[in-house]
Amino acid sequence: MIKEIPDEMTGGEFKPRHTIEIYCPNCGYDVSEVELAAKVCSDCGHSLAEPEKHVSILVANMSSGSSTL
Ligand SMILES: [Zn+2]
Repeated sequence: MIKEIPDEMTGGEFKPRHTIEIYCPNCGYDVSEVELAAKVCSDCGHSLAEPEKHVSILVANMSSGSSTL
């Protein structure tokens, strides 16, 4: 499952848009929201109490060509 978290401002701290991919820590199966809620991988039966998460920040066009030489 890939969750997309939009830009947010929490307590004066800006958090850019990012995605969280959630996998089974045992077999690497891409778990769904339902399996995550049940905390059991439907592929191998392993507990998903502590799933493996991959966070990637989506860089929204931070203009790399703005420097003038
Ligand atoms: Zn699994």
